[in-house]
Amino acid sequence: MNNYKILGVKNTDSLDHITKKYKELAKIYHPDRNPLNTEQATEKFKEINVAFITIKNTYTPSFKQNEEEFKYFTDKIINKGEFLNRFFNKAKTIDMGEMLGVLLKNIKKIRFYYDDIFSETSTEDINITINVEMEDVYNSEDKIINLVRKRKCLKCFTDDLAFCSICHNKIYYEQEKCFLVNCSEKIIIFSGESNEEKNNKPGDIIVRIITKKQDRFNIFNNYDLLYFIFSRGEENIKHEYTFLDKQNYIFECTYPYSDHYIIEGKGLYIPYSNKRGNLVIKIVPEHENNTNYKLYLNKTIT
Ligand SMILES: [Zn+2]
Repeated sequence: MNNYKILGVKNTDSLDHITKKYKELAKIYHPDRNPLNTEQATEKFKEINVAFITIKNTYTPSFKQNEEEFKYFTDKIINKGEFLNRFFNKAKTIDMGEMLGVLLKNIKKIRFYYDDIFSETSTEDINITINVEMEDVYNSEDKIINLVRKRKCLKCFTDDLAFCSICHNKIYYEQEKCFLVNCSEKIIIFSGESNEEKNNKPGDIIVRIITKKQDRFNIFNNYDLLYFIFSRGEENIKHEYTFLDKQNYIFECTYPYSDHYIIEGKGLYIPYSNKRGNLVIKIVPEHENNTNYKLYLNKTIT
């Protein structure tokens, strides 16, 4: 299906509008919000992400073509504008016979390049899982992933060279690229960034972010945090702790205290929402065995 249709937008819509629609859909189909239907939601979520990234990467405000295939083709030409400029600059200075030769040669090149883009099949997706510290998730830190993929040599495509120093005339070569991921996301898709191969479109790079266990804070309900304070008995509590933002906090409550306290907005960032989950502080009598930790985690806190 057309990327614009997937997002329910028109190709003449502004990027702001498209982004808004994308965020609405991503919220609805986020796998975490569809616990009964995770598999289908993940598929849909991925489709929405790919559609949005593709539109965003090729978006030009002045562009208003309706024919889908032509648009795709033309978008790619705009991206390869350097090649076209060279072609037209060359064309200015040559006679017609020579120009035909140049044209045919370049059509060959374009076909060589676009055969793969219009291919029905794709190369395999590259799946990556990275484990990050809970502090990095809380603070929305960026991480860089370095990847080597097999890609088509752009230098061979744009230049006429007897010998290409990049790919050694093999057309495909091992290319290294840095990908930036934000730790507060759960899944990030880099559309069309997988390996390139003859007669195949490149697949996607799919990065899943897993949060490492932390000594003091436990994640529950995806974005909420649970923190235990042990009480010595029938007395007020004044407890100092270092939080994931590296700041020190003091938690105070007077006896008799509740089972737990909710501090709103101190949980993990909820993607596409600008909101955070909550921090739940649970008071546990010290005499209760610490090895029963799991027991508390399984309890539903309301
Ligand atoms: Zn090359």
